[in-house]
Amino acid sequence: SMAGATPVFADVDPETGTLDPAAFEAAITPQTAGVIPVHLYGCPANMDAIVKIARRHSLLVLEDAAQAHGARYKERRVGGLGDAAAFSFYPSKNLGAYGDAGAVVTRDPVLANKVRLLRHGGQRQASYHELPGTNSRLDEIQAAVLRVKQAYLDGWNERRRALAKRYDAGLQDCEGLALPVTPEEVEHAFYVYVVRTHLRDGLRDYLAGTGVSTGIHYPVCVHLQAAYAHLGYEVGSCPNAEEAAATVLSLAIFPQLTAGEVDQVVRMVRIFFAVRE
Ligand SMILES: *Cc1c(COP(=O)(O)O)cnc(C)c1O
Repeated sequence: SMAGATPVFADVDPETGTLDPAAFEAAITPQTAGVIPVHLYGCPANMDAIVKIARRHSLLVLEDAAQAHGARYKERRVGGLGDAAAFSFYPSKNLGAYGDAGAVVTRDPVLANKVRLLRHGGQRQASYHELPGTNSRLDEIQAAVLRVKQAYLDGWNERRRALAKRYDAGLQDCEGLALPVTPEEVEHAFYVYVVRTHLRDGLRDYLAGTGVSTGIHYPVCVHLQAAYAHLGYEVGSCPNAEEAAATVLSLAIFPQLTAGEVDQVVRMVRIFFAVRE
């Protein structure tokens, strides 16, 4: 939007919540410049299909890897699967700084230079502005924190996967509860562990009453946000995304969470669905 482009929203795969390649292809017009697949929840999008379609139409592929640091798609890390990728180092992310931070990665030196200009007020050298840019510099304190934490990322992600597996095992027979689906070619980073149920709001309230906090990622689809009301999207235009918004619930997951804590969440969810041992 800030680049002057008009976003066009395409629906997601109903199981993973990542961009549906067929919906993406159907949305392409002669005006289309690129595609921004989101590796939602830490699950890499279906990149082989997406990149293939993009190449056929000469479109840029920009990965939103903000939730998927370290995740792999067919053995390859996210961030290197398209033309460029954006990472967020907001403190809650798998790799988080001590405040706001982020990075763009690309193999294209021309694009890299342009991003360097844009992050620094469009300046190539002090006081000479080549482009209208912004202030998006990563300050040294954040860089120092990230430099230390980076070495722990793979271990933390491994721990997230182990906790996800524990949730899977504990909740697999809860009728009315759908567990996250991990495609075979993917190594998930589990930024969040998201279950789905039509009893979402009741379950969330029940868990809150027992001291178990949960999250909703996300309650309102982008195409239905007030910020994009002028684009005229209506309810029903991305039905899979809308169904997800109405049913998703995130259970606690972070590397320091203990197995006992996972078991307690599992116990409470099972009591809610009245699945007795
Ligand atoms: C966090 C996040 C962003 C935004 O990152 P900021 O660092 O807040 O700009 C973008 N996309 C996704 C998928 C995110 O999770």
